[in-house]
Amino acid sequence: MSKASQDFLPCLVGSMSVGAAGNPTVAMIEAAFAHHKLHYRYINMEVSPDDLESAVSGAAAMGFTGFNCSLPHKVKVIDYLDGLGESARIMGAVNCVVRRDAQWIGENTDGKGFLASLREVIQPSGCSVTILGAGGAARAIAVELALAGVAQITLVNRDRERGQSLSTLLQQSLKVAAHFEPWQPEHPISEEATILVNATSVGLYDSQAKLDVDLKTLRSDLVVADVIFNPPQTQLLREAAKRGCRTIDGLGMIVQQGVTCIEYWTGCQADPVIMRQAVEQALGLTPPHTS
Ligand code: NDP
Repeated sequence: MSKASQDFLPCLVGSMSVGAAGNPTVAMIEAAFAHHKLHYRYINMEVSPDDLESAVSGAAAMGFTGFNCSLPHKVKVIDYLDGLGESARIMGAVNCVVRRDAQWIGENTDGKGFLASLREVIQPSGCSVTILGAGGAARAIAVELALAGVAQITLVNRDRERGQSLSTLLQQSLKVAAHFEPWQPEHPISEEATILVNATSVGLYDSQAKLDVDLKTLRSDLVVADVIFNPPQTQLLREAAKRGCRTIDGLGMIVQQGVTCIEYWTGCQADPVIMRQAVEQALGLTPPHTS
């Protein structure tokens, strides 16, 4: 960074959440800023739900360029914004806020990150996709896949109401052929599926956790993706790889959603390789980099 650029205050971005300590995004975004010599700082902020409105006003007062919002603020933050991007409006959740023309605009980069990671392996347009789960991650992924032109989405979830409501949203707002399948014991994956996504929280911090699916129905031509980023090699991905499936781990999604946030805030296309190294180190998956 040149002396001249250091004479200016850095542009500020950051994250508002509860349980902010240990957020691996900080290391990943700051590594990208350093690598691309962007004069930005990413500030990790613990913000309670009661303080969210004043925190958003405060960010405007302090000249923030934007911020991430994580749990539990992804839906409530919409009340304090001036507008929403297309997918954030459809899914009703925001994880990335951007200052545009003195307005706070809410975007959702979770599904976009998943899509970018998926596209490294397969183009989803025209594909038939089975998604396990119907929570926030499943919603973001399903909406983005529908916008990307998949032919069909099957949602498998334990809670019927949640599964059915996401299926209805996809049919009504995106006109995609979507249907809900109640989760059965040893759930079989449909022969029509080209892509299988685990968007449940099963596997988070537990590499032995098993999804209740019939592993014999994982065909070798299936692409299997998991949203779980820690540990990235989940039981599902290991079993899928054994059966010859192409697999995609959840670190790709976390990195690519960060790439999209940086592009919104700075206009820079950040290097995902640098960001993946940083997030792997932050999660303790690789030893610290020494140069
Ligand atoms: P939610 O709490 O909104 O949803 C959780 C989902 O998991 C629900 O569909 C729930 O089903 C399902 N589920 C939980 N336990 C089980 C189980 N034992 N068997 C079957 N289904 C189960 O969480 P999110 O959608 O926000 O997050 C899901 C996961 O995605 C988390 O682990 C999170 O860390 C990860 N994530 C990863 C991202 C990335 O960038 N890689 C980004 C965002 C999230 P039900 O409705 O029946 O209770």
